[in-house]
Amino acid sequence: MENNEIENFVENNIKNFQTIGKGWNEIIREMLIEFAKNGWNLDNQIFGKEKYASLQCSSFSNDSEIEIFKCIRIKFEKLSGVTCQECGDKSKHRYFKGWEYTLCKNCYLEKATNEIYLKKRSNLEECKFCGYFAFSEDNCKFCGNYDYNTTGIKMNPRNDFENELEYIKYCQMEVYVDKDDEIEFSKRTKGYSKSETYKILFSEEELNEYIEMIKNLG
Ligand SMILES: [Zn+2]
Ligand SMILES: [Zn+2]
Repeated sequence: MENNEIENFVENNIKNFQTIGKGWNEIIREMLIEFAKNGWNLDNQIFGKEKYASLQCSSFSNDSEIEIFKCIRIKFEKLSGVTCQECGDKSKHRYFKGWEYTLCKNCYLEKATNEIYLKKRSNLEECKFCGYFAFSEDNCKFCGNYDYNTTGIKMNPRNDFENELEYIKYCQMEVYVDKDDEIEFSKRTKGYSKSETYKILFSEEELNEYIEMIKNLG
């Protein structure tokens, strides 16, 4: 196949993709090239859009092409799930104001600068998990953790942890590691102050075990 045929196919079809940012442009190009090089009928257009923060493709094709289409589509759907939709960097799935996004750390935190909530309330206590004065009723408005004795139907820490100390240590490590950048996001958006007497209860050994565990979870 001529290079300029492929080029034309890419240019004609890239217009069929509706995505929010420009971060996926490279992988969409790559995908279209892969279609062209794998015997795709270049008269069949390929369409795409973002849905649930990943790339979804569609096309009208004849039966012999269904398998090619499926393989390539699935490969790039997966790739879009780890590619920042704003800048193209390595990224992960995020939830933000009820929507799903695939964003790298920088682009995610960039959103924070536009979202300073400053929802301060009186009667806030120091949180045992993160050390911020943001705890009221049975949960922390800063780190999102719930009290060991919560009766919320969403979760029941008493079932999952031997005692309260083990639970606090676990939540503290979660905050410390900040796997999904939620704590960093909270720092930038929420105007809570941190206690100067906050104490970390977990040991270095426990932290290493925790890090190993979340690595294995993926
Ligand atoms: Zn990004
Ligand atoms: Zn907290």
